[in-house]
Amino acid sequence: MPQRRVTVASRIGLHARPARLLVEEAARLPVRVTIAKDGGRPADARSILSVLALNARGGDTVVLAADGEGAEQAVEALAAFLAVDHDAGQGRAGVSTTHAGIGVSPGVAVGPVVRLVGPPELPATAPAVADTEAEMARAVAALQAVAADLDRRCAAAVAEAAEALAATAMIARDPVLAYSVAVLVRAGRAAPWAVRDAIESFRAKLVAKGGYLAERAADLDDVRARAVAVLLGVPMPSPPRPGYPHVLIAGNLAPADTATLDPNSVLALVTVGGGPFGHTAILAKSLGIPAVVACTGAAGLTDGEVVAVDGGSGVVTVAPDPADVSRVRSRAAAMASMAAMAARTAASHGPGRTADGHPIKLLLNVGGADLDSAGRRGDSEGIGLLRTEFLFLHRQTAPTLAEQEAAYREVFERFPGRQVVVRTLDAGVDKPLPFASLGAQPNPALGVRGVRTFWRYPELLETQLEAIARAGKDGPARVWVMAPMVATVEEAAAFAGLARAHGHGTVGVMVEVPSAALGAESILDVVDFVSIGTNDLTQYTLAADRQVGALARLLDPWQPALLRLIAMTAAAGASAGKPVGVCGEAAGDPLLAAVLVGLGVTSLSMAAADLPAVQAALAERTLEQCRSSARRALAAPTAEAARSAAGTARTEQ
Ligand code: PEP
Ligand code: MG
Repeated sequence: MPQRRVTVASRIGLHARPARLLVEEAARLPVRVTIAKDGGRPADARSILSVLALNARGGDTVVLAADGEGAEQAVEALAAFLAVDHDAGQGRAGVSTTHAGIGVSPGVAVGPVVRLVGPPELPATAPAVADTEAEMARAVAALQAVAADLDRRCAAAVAEAAEALAATAMIARDPVLAYSVAVLVRAGRAAPWAVRDAIESFRAKLVAKGGYLAERAADLDDVRARAVAVLLGVPMPSPPRPGYPHVLIAGNLAPADTATLDPNSVLALVTVGGGPFGHTAILAKSLGIPAVVACTGAAGLTDGEVVAVDGGSGVVTVAPDPADVSRVRSRAAAMASMAAMAARTAASHGPGRTADGHPIKLLLNVGGADLDSAGRRGDSEGIGLLRTEFLFLHRQTAPTLAEQEAAYREVFERFPGRQVVVRTLDAGVDKPLPFASLGAQPNPALGVRGVRTFWRYPELLETQLEAIARAGKDGPARVWVMAPMVATVEEAAAFAGLARAHGHGTVGVMVEVPSAALGAESILDVVDFVSIGTNDLTQYTLAADRQVGALARLLDPWQPALLRLIAMTAAAGASAGKPVGVCGEAAGDPLLAAVLVGLGVTSLSMAAADLPAVQAALAERTLEQCRSSARRALAAPTAEAARSAAGTARTEQ
């Protein structure tokens, strides 16, 4: 049985945050690891109560042990974890310092920092121009350079990001813009100021017109920032491609920018802002890039500094010492080999089921960029959440019926004989649509978003439902449709009526608003299934914006209030004899997945990267064990207690 003695690096010992991080890390491992103080009784590293009871202090030696396939890698992974000081945001002795953020995409990496620079600022007064002809040529060349750079990025980008980049390149090439710049330079304005002022005047006109046109202002801002950067000889404000593997640091990163990141070159992503369930976090995870958000300390990092990033614990170590680097690297290797092992184990089990054979559909969340990797996952039973926003975002006009039909058909053809649940457009909040302006909303998450968008733009839903129906007709996949952000039974009935009128046979809605969970029984009278979006259900239950990192404690899917709403919804499904799935990020947490099954959920849909561990976790537990974990988690007073009660239930059975 593999064993390892290791010194606890955390100065405060295995208490508070380091203990919680250790338990979370242990819960992700495919085998159970025990931890003991020298000569003491071994405790389960997945149990917070047992870990706290060890009373291990910084500098103490502990012994890790595990049994079964993958035990050695699991012990190595926890040993590497314990060898790092995980005290939140505290500098360490020596030259290394750490910054704490929220880990949103697991994995570890070490590399040099490359920052995403903000838009360049121009001094208030412009210098005089000596040679206006030369200055004009400089200005035009800068705009052309911007267009060419955007073309290059466009060619390398995935479909949804390419659209945005192509439209911006077209603005940079606009002859009317070039003319306005030329007029200003001829009047004596230096090139950077001429470009800035010409764009500013177009921008002001668009903003004054309001609505759809006002929303194009951001594209002009982008062209202005890029052209001014070229003229000043400073880097352009877009995800840099320095030509070597690096850790990308950004204040914030738009989902479209995240979608264009190359996982071979971006070792990890750290943002100063952002929240754990924002779409940037979800995209980073689907691309397999370790990511940390809400890391305020990262704002002070400079290009070239070496950092170690832990996308699980959210710790960013600046100037890690050589021992740190080798620990991170060996942990990365251990994680990679464990993932491969888990994938093998899971694949050999085929469809999702518990140890005693209770079937649970395991499905994938797909949002466009990750379609290729999802299609290759032959051991999933299909797509449980197709986020169709990828077809709509960054478009100047709505995609046509024919365009949509072709795009959906491409997805369905990759999943022959399998289920594909298509979610209709979920616009609003961080996914605005240029062609369907929702106007300024003081509180967009509580405003017109999701299915509410169609009150104002009914033709968008009609066209989408028709395109999905045509693409699915006589096609290879079993196509279901569902609507996001449904709050009432009237909305559910209206959506179901419309979908059925377009020929859809299996129609459902997402449960993302507490009123939908509380009213699940009535809603299930009018639809065929429901799928619980725990990301939004958490934000609305806890009244905590999912994009705000500072609220991460509230945004914990183990919150007992959330578990109770899920239990109610599952019970409504069981009495109606209709499926109840979970498609939020919670479904990808192996321990929580077992609890969800115990609560009565019938399918789990997750990022492809999470599937092997969830498959393996369910295969290790009987349905009764899942139910027992669920009962204990439901009875717990806090999220922390629910998590540890679920883990403890498992070890006691
Ligand atoms: C959810 O809210 O849990 C969900 C799956 O939808 P999205 O993350 O796309 O809002
Ligand atoms: Mg949602």
